Formats: sequence, structure tokens, C-alpha cells
Amino acid sequence: MLRTHITEEVNIHGVRTRESGHRRYVEMHVLVPGAWTVTRGHDLVESIEQAVKAEFEASEVTTHLEPREDPRAYGDYETEIELGAAGNGGHGTVPSQDEG
Ligand SMILES: [Zn+2]
Repeated sequence: MLRTHITEEVNIHGVRTRESGHRRYVEMHVLVPGAWTVTRGHDLVESIEQAVKAEFEASEVTTHLEPREDPRAYGDYETEIELGAAGNGGHGTVPSQDEG
């Protein structure tokens, strides 16, 4: 589902999920070209947030928009997209040490 948003220009990483009671929280970093306008980036993350909410019935989706050219965006790159486990009843928590 998230993979449908990943293109030559767009990447997603740092995906984390957690549950509190019956509420599910999803966080992710969305990397786009730095030359994109704020509007374009925002339109994309809105689309992603809606897709995540639809797929996982997440109560909250938080996205962090990052310019893909910025090396600071890659500090948490090892947490590469891995949301699959979140949809099958497991807790689906992706190991992650920092917020990036
Ligand atoms: Zn990041």
C-alpha cells in the first residue's frame, strides 16, 4: 500500500507503528525532492495519510516531510519501509532508536 506511493522521486522510511488501547498510531518519514513546493509535498503526504488510515484503520498518522537531498534525512535509514506486519494482528513495531 505504501509502496504505491514510492516512485523515482519519492521514498518513505522510518515507519513506526504503536498501539494504545484500540488506537493505532503510525509515523513515517516521506522523502521528496527539495525543489518540490510545499503544496506538492503536502498534497502527497495527505494522500499517504489517507491511504494508511484506510488500510490500517489508524487513529493517527504522522508524517515528517524531508528533502531527499539532505543527508540529515538519512540518519534513520535502516528503518526502511516495513509496515507489512502492522496489518495482520501483530503489533508490527519497527525497531527504531530515534526520531530522525
Ligand atoms: Zn528520516
